[in-house]
Amino acid sequence: MKIIYICGLVHSGSTILDMALGAHSGIVGLGEISRILKADQRNFSNREFTKIHCSCGKDMLECLFWSEIRNKAFLWESQPASLRYEELLTIFSSIFGENKILVDSSKEISPYLLDLHKNHKLKIIFLAKDFRSWSYSIHMKKKKNIFTLPLRWRRENKKLLSFLEKNGLDYYPLGYEEFALYPKTILSLLCRYIGVQFEENMLRPAGSTSHIIRGNRARSDPDKIQAIRYDSRWMTSNKASLLPFLYLPLNSFNKKIVFSNYLKSRKENNRHEGLL
Ligand SMILES: [Zn+2]
Repeated sequence: MKIIYICGLVHSGSTILDMALGAHSGIVGLGEISRILKADQRNFSNREFTKIHCSCGKDMLECLFWSEIRNKAFLWESQPASLRYEELLTIFSSIFGENKILVDSSKEISPYLLDLHKNHKLKIIFLAKDFRSWSYSIHMKKKKNIFTLPLRWRRENKKLLSFLEKNGLDYYPLGYEEFALYPKTILSLLCRYIGVQFEENMLRPAGSTSHIIRGNRARSDPDKIQAIRYDSRWMTSNKASLLPFLYLPLNSFNKKIVFSNYLKSRKENNRHEGLL
């Protein structure tokens, strides 16, 4: 089975990417699967947990896919994560069909990742957000000191990359900025990597037929998912504009992981404008 795994830090724009991919007729996004697989019977019996809203518009108890998983979860308590995942894949194929491609936007290094690589066609997208924009989001949402966040951004991205490289996992590097600013070009490139034809519907994540139950709340906000738009709020922050000067050595790593497709296209295309 073909599985797309979105790997990256929290708040890197994975939910909107998951939804855009899921708007393709051959792809279904399920959001952060690892967080659901970690849940135990107590969680699944908890009223608050089962009321989590799915991007299909229903809650866990009513959703076509997650209600089936919930029923199964009562039996898989003692199973390791990769076996739980196989059960999930069986339910996925029986509901959506054998040929559908699944998107898992768990982002972290999940305990089942190497088994997926061994047993399935795994397509990893390594998604990174510009460190100025990422630090600003975490600063605003979690009230963390913006001036220390670039260090965390570097450390966690390096850790993910070194895991992928050490284990010989092939991945597609993608910047949130490239994706949100040039969605059509980037989604076409991603489709080539995944092995499907690009479809215009992907530019309208609201049309996604995915069942994303975890991740950014934007999944159930119709305004935010109508089109892929770049969130540029950080540009008006004085603190964020100081970061590239305070962290000069980070700029080249940032360029490498966030703008690789843009820079490659600029190199291939000697013209300066309209590159992507
Ligand atoms: Zn659903």
